[in-house]
Amino acid sequence: MDRAGSSALSGGELYLGGGTAIQQACGFSDTADDMFDFLSTALGPHADLEKVRLYCYGSVDHYEWLVSCGVVIQPTMFEGRARMPATTDGLKWLGENARPYNEIAKPAPRGHRGPVPMSTGQLLMDTLVAHASSPGVSVEVDTRATSLIVEDGRVVGVNARRYGADESFRADSVVLTTGGFVDNEQMLADHAPSLLGHGKVSDGLDDGSGILMAQGRRRRHPPDVDDRSGLHRAARDGLPRDAGQLPGPSLHQRRRLSRTLQPRGTRPARPLLGDHRRGRSRGDHGHWGIHPSFAAETPEELAADLSIPASAFAATVASYNRDAVNGQDPMFHKDSRWLRPLTGGLAAFDPRLGFFPTSTTVPGTGFSGFTLGGLHTTPDGHVLSMTGERIPGLYAAGRASSGMHGERYISGTSLGDGTFFGRRAGRTAAAS
Ligand SMILES: Cc1cc2nc3c(=O)[nH]c(=O)nc-3n(C[C@H](O)[C@H](O)[C@H](O)COP(=O)(O)OP(=O)(O)OC[C@H]3O[C@@H](n4cnc5c(N)ncnc54)[C@H](O)[C@@H]3O)c2cc1C
Repeated sequence: MDRAGSSALSGGELYLGGGTAIQQACGFSDTADDMFDFLSTALGPHADLEKVRLYCYGSVDHYEWLVSCGVVIQPTMFEGRARMPATTDGLKWLGENARPYNEIAKPAPRGHRGPVPMSTGQLLMDTLVAHASSPGVSVEVDTRATSLIVEDGRVVGVNARRYGADESFRADSVVLTTGGFVDNEQMLADHAPSLLGHGKVSDGLDDGSGILMAQGRRRRHPPDVDDRSGLHRAARDGLPRDAGQLPGPSLHQRRRLSRTLQPRGTRPARPLLGDHRRGRSRGDHGHWGIHPSFAAETPEELAADLSIPASAFAATVASYNRDAVNGQDPMFHKDSRWLRPLTGGLAAFDPRLGFFPTSTTVPGTGFSGFTLGGLHTTPDGHVLSMTGERIPGLYAAGRASSGMHGERYISGTSLGDGTFFGRRAGRTAAAS
């Protein structure tokens, strides 16, 4: 409908590797095999390994295609910890160097991003939309596709509404790229109930309309909505850790923890920061965009504020501090570069106040997600029916389709697999 969807709102990170020119320029060697070993584990159980393999082995080519479309990525490495760097650096780590993944595959940074501070999604989409709008390509905006046109069992176009008027568009085939369904409460209840009541990582228009359109088409075999893992392959999590335990784990560990904590409901989980004075003045987006809500001079005082058992909490802090002095973290395996004893006062954040609250006045739950399941597709984007047949003329890509993900997510793989498998779907549709 609009020109850029959730993609334009996004951080703009693309998960690319296997030895891209940016990785090489920053001094990292990487292989498709290492990328596959990492992703096939990190994307969790039920990942589509055929798609993961194609994605990893086609990643350098995909990077070069993006560059040929005008996408600019600076050959400089961001070594900090912010989720969205306030720099123009083009490369960053996305959990590859955190345990257990650094023990599974040789780590290499694979987060590729555009040359603007913070979110780079708008720039990415402006560039790709400008490239796609080359002569001969007609782009219809403010037009809502409402149903598929099916003739003799083949999808041959879409019906649509524009400014209150009905229109129809005929084509040899249709590629659905209408995004996910996190904004559709009924679909969440049916396929991803664990996301109900939490924040939504979307532009507000991820209403599943493309998936519903495909399901509503009049044909013998309805399409298969892939919920191998319950369509609940939710991502972009904010819940960091449980009360009574300890400090900021690496980005990826945080994701794993949030998956663990999220089913417990809305009980607050509060990340900790040593030296609350420093924490208060920092206030950057590396801390979920929020300032500490609690500050105390001792673990016991902080525990009282947080209503958690004081002695267990104080013992955990003391044990963590003892190990941190020696550059070790047997409890959480935090990278030694970031290990600091928690001294000089403690602060705690309330992640419910951070990104994606449910409204401006009501705090969120500390967790927000989007959906990664969708129409079941082949690696070439064909939508499959419930009986595994290709539906003639119907293709899908992006979050309207089931991509390569399993039950977990790595930042950059949504824009990554959307563009990668979108190209494949477009090529196959054009060839058909
Ligand atoms: C704040 C934020 C940060 C994120 N950061 C990252 C990141 O750094 N890296 C990453 O990989 N992912 C990130 N994501 C996730 C990622 O942006 C989305 O998963 C991805 O953009 C989905 O792409 P898509 O093409 O499937 O859908 P979209 O980009 O949402 O595009 C769908 C388009 O279809 C249109 N549409 C919908 N229904 C209809 C209809 N019936 N008729 C006509 N048009 C329709 C919509 O208006 C929209 O323009 C982020 C998301 C958010 C919100």
